[in-house]
Amino acid sequence: MYLKELSINGFKSFAKKSELEFSAPITAIVGPNGSGKSNIAESFRFVLGEQSVKSMRGKRGEDLIWGGSDKVSRGNRAVVQVVFDNKSRTFALDFDEVKIERIVHRDGQNEYKLNDSNVRLKDVHELLANANIGSTGHHIISQGEADRVLAAGPKERREMIEDALGLKVYQIKKNETERKLDKTRENITQVELLRREVAPHLKYLKKQVEKAERSLEVQGILKEKYAEYLKREDTYVAFHHDRLTKSRLEPSDKLEEIQKRLLEVKEKLKDSESAPESDELTKADESFVSASRSRQEAEREQSSLEGQVSFLERRLANPPKAEVEQTAFIPRVQVEELVSDIESKVEQALSEGSASAFKHALTDLVDRLRTFLKHEKGEVVDTSAADKEELEALQKSLKATEKVVAEALEKENKAREVFEAIQAARSEDTEKNREAERDMFALMNERRELEGKISTIDRELEALNRDRNDFKQQLQEAVTLLGRAASDYFSYEVKDESGQVVSEEVIVGEDRSTQRTRQFELEKLKIRLEELGVGATEDLLKEYNDAKERDEFLARELADLESSVENLKELIVDMQAKLHEQFSSGLDKITKEFHTFFTLMFGGGSASLEKVKIKQRDDEEEEDEEKVIQEGVELNIALPNKRVKGLEMLSGGERALTSIALIFAMSQVNPPPFIILDETDAALDEANSRRYGDMIEALAKKSQLVLITHNRETMSRAGVLYGITMGSDGVSKTLSVKFEEAAAVAK
Ligand code: ATP
Repeated sequence: MYLKELSINGFKSFAKKSELEFSAPITAIVGPNGSGKSNIAESFRFVLGEQSVKSMRGKRGEDLIWGGSDKVSRGNRAVVQVVFDNKSRTFALDFDEVKIERIVHRDGQNEYKLNDSNVRLKDVHELLANANIGSTGHHIISQGEADRVLAAGPKERREMIEDALGLKVYQIKKNETERKLDKTRENITQVELLRREVAPHLKYLKKQVEKAERSLEVQGILKEKYAEYLKREDTYVAFHHDRLTKSRLEPSDKLEEIQKRLLEVKEKLKDSESAPESDELTKADESFVSASRSRQEAEREQSSLEGQVSFLERRLANPPKAEVEQTAFIPRVQVEELVSDIESKVEQALSEGSASAFKHALTDLVDRLRTFLKHEKGEVVDTSAADKEELEALQKSLKATEKVVAEALEKENKAREVFEAIQAARSEDTEKNREAERDMFALMNERRELEGKISTIDRELEALNRDRNDFKQQLQEAVTLLGRAASDYFSYEVKDESGQVVSEEVIVGEDRSTQRTRQFELEKLKIRLEELGVGATEDLLKEYNDAKERDEFLARELADLESSVENLKELIVDMQAKLHEQFSSGLDKITKEFHTFFTLMFGGGSASLEKVKIKQRDDEEEEDEEKVIQEGVELNIALPNKRVKGLEMLSGGERALTSIALIFAMSQVNPPPFIILDETDAALDEANSRRYGDMIEALAKKSQLVLITHNRETMSRAGVLYGITMGSDGVSKTLSVKFEEAAAVAK
């Protein structure tokens, strides 16, 4: 026995708490019409989670709560508890007793409790389904409801049979799995949509990142090339700058020295040039010439006087003899004229200086002298007295002239001495100047050479400075392109192809064209980098990685979903097969039992159940054949000795018997823990009531029975009898009654 007790409080006409114990296999509930018996059956439905208020004869939830009467005010909630024995663990709970409780409030809110713990309706359904107490209520047959199994369509009937066979739990699972499958398919569609949506952006990001990666690669190469180029250039420029600066020092110093010396020499030369040497010499020369001339004049004067003196002395000593001596006396004036004449001619010739002038002068002189002699031949006169006188005068003059000559000679000698001294001094100076000039020229030569040398160095330095400026510009560009990494070249080690570190000596001695080639390569790389863009930003990489991760996640999700679709499909197929198999075998068993009960009830005839194909809905889109075509169950009955077939032809009693036969058959195959039958026996005549009584006794061996009845025969089969009464307050009450008491109110 499973059903232990029922407690109703505030439910429908049970305004106050009523308790019923079910201690016998068959419990009968008896009482007058309207006393509240059916409310008990409904309280079972209620507590087991029935959601249709209509099936409990109400319109709204609050119709289930005690509505009040003139004497008893209405209740705020209805509480029904049912207690099951669970020692055999019919319910999948580790308790010996299972108490299910449902409370409905006036606001329509429902509460469910399992052994006093709040649970969800779903939990109650699951618990009951596993204990073969399905929600279709095939085990609770309400008043007039026995017919439902006959009136139902093939599909509904199939569901009832599935429920009776305990397949509901598989069905629920299958439906759940199908829902899961639908949901999974929906998710797949959504994930595919999401992937399709992000795909173009991801593709774009991928391209960007690839471009950025290439850019990074080029940056890497550029960095390496820059480092080598800059290192080499820096080394080269620094080395050669140092070398040239040093090599310039010596010639510069020398040049300075030479400039100094040149200045000194020039200064010296300038001094000697600026001295009044030539004036002095000229003056000395002039003095000497003038003194010489004075002396010559004086000497001429002297010799003239001497000549005259000598002539007079000779004449005085040898007076002229006429005819004997052709001696003529020539007046002094004539002679002076002659002399003067000769002098002027000689001077003229001298001044002309040419040989022909001298020749001409000599010829003239000869002519003049001859003319003079011819002219002067005359008579002889005694001139001794005058001669004496003249002689004396002449001698006097001579003496004076001699004095003058001596003085002039002295002057001349002095002037010569001065001139010669100056000349001597001058020639010494000239010698010195020449030496200075030689020095100057030598220095100038040296200076030219040094200047040449320096200018060669300067030209080299200039070229090097250009290189240095280029280097600075390159470094600046490197900083712009590579940032601080550009300065890494400081520590860069230039290596050759074999990986050996290249020495400074080799670097600075390299042909410049190689470095130019490197520069050209750098330029090419820069252009390439410019085409590719600066490179990956953190944001871009993050965005790409996020998008990629998301896409990968979605791809994994999709794969998972697809594999779960496969699993679910397989599961559904398995379940379907199991359901199909169990349903078919269960249906066969029910058919057998149905036929047995039917023939027992009608004393013959035949009854069977048949699987039929039904279309779910004509207007539904035909997506899935299996969904559209479903199996239903039809009834085939043949009454004994009657030709008529078909349910429609049955009388009320016949219908009742047929439905009872089917209900009992269903209960026999997979007996539920309890069955409640509300006046299922109402339409039976006495004979059939007995048959009914026999059948319920057979049934009670497998399921506990609660029978609401007015039938005496049925009452007689019950172990426990409860009477329901309703007083003038409209409140239903329960009381244990004896068969006799019950029979008294029975029909
Ligand atoms: P019968 O033998 O004629 O089938 P019964 O014993 O099965 O009768 P029920 O149908 O169970 O009687 O009870 C009906 C009674 O319950 C009615 O009197 C009805 O007024 C009362 N009832 C139903 N709902 C409520 C409610 N919410 N509050 C108060 N009384 C209610």
